[in-house]
Amino acid sequence: MENQQIQITHSQSRKAKPASDQLEFGRIFTDHMFMMDYSEEKGWYEPRIVPYQPITLDPAAMIFHYGQTVFEGLKAYRTKEDKVLLFRPEKNMERLNLSNERLCIPQIDEDFVLNALKQLVNLDKDWVPSAEGTSLYIRPFIISTEPYLGVAASKSYKLMIILSPVGSYYKEGIHPVKIFVEREFVRAVEGGTGKAKTAGNYAASLKAQEVSEKQGYSQVLWLDGIEKRYIEEVGSMNIFFKINGKVVTPELNGSILAGVTRDSVINLLKYWGVPVQERRISIDEIYDSFKNGELEEVFGTGTAAVISPVGELNWEGEKMVINNGKTGSLSQKIYDTLTSIQNGLEPDLFDWTV
Ligand code: PMP
Repeated sequence: MENQQIQITHSQSRKAKPASDQLEFGRIFTDHMFMMDYSEEKGWYEPRIVPYQPITLDPAAMIFHYGQTVFEGLKAYRTKEDKVLLFRPEKNMERLNLSNERLCIPQIDEDFVLNALKQLVNLDKDWVPSAEGTSLYIRPFIISTEPYLGVAASKSYKLMIILSPVGSYYKEGIHPVKIFVEREFVRAVEGGTGKAKTAGNYAASLKAQEVSEKQGYSQVLWLDGIEKRYIEEVGSMNIFFKINGKVVTPELNGSILAGVTRDSVINLLKYWGVPVQERRISIDEIYDSFKNGELEEVFGTGTAAVISPVGELNWEGEKMVINNGKTGSLSQKIYDTLTSIQNGLEPDLFDWTV
């Protein structure tokens, strides 16, 4: 792969760019996209950057039937000096291959794809918005393309990278959300695909999300699929609790996605000398700590929001209001530090930006 040249076909026309205060998440796409194909004979071949366009697939393409697909999500940020930064993109390439492994999709050359991603972002760099909190969302993904209805791993694939300018997650500053502790539906189970970033996990999560939204909650807290007791994730974010001065987060048990933000938060806390543990956490333990007045802060972590404070947890009708429904000081400090690093506003002690 290393010595394959990326063919570039420039778009003949340039689309109008949206105003940075009108950006939503994931509705507008840039002028170009990256593609390459896989066959058993050739491996990954024909890496190319082409004008953003629809693709043609056989209706029997396996992606449509059995969902053999993986994806990633990361962002490019524009600094005050007009540089464009990526945040730990090698972690996303690594995770893409972990997802590939679980879904029987051939491994990619991580360095090659990261280099392709950088070339694509560079070509469309005028699309990286500059207003505070905005960024260019990057979506690499792989689909199975073999026209075959047998349940088996596909023999051919397409890898694509598309780019979408996105607005600030918090239009009026970081604010806490209400979370419903889900007891009926589960997101993933041990031995399943929870640790992979694959479409089926997200399709399976929609029902609980829909039900909780109707009840006025913005996301659900997922519990384990067997006892429905141990905490897994919140919506499509990892979750952290600050209890009596110490921070805990569920350990990576096979059904939890290893978030890049999660890892960054753990590193930051360790650097600051805040005690942090990765372990099994039951919802009963959280309830007890709430009752004892020891539950100080709860927050989700993910690329989209960076930090999403939780103001209320509803567990079977018991409403746990956390920190009076306000953003905790540690949540705010982590948010400020991570976003400053991502936007090149403070020294990058960990060499996270590229
Ligand atoms: N869990 C799930 C299920 C997710 O989809 C995401 C978003 N990728 C995360 C956690 C957070 O991961 P990251 O910090 O890498 O965005």
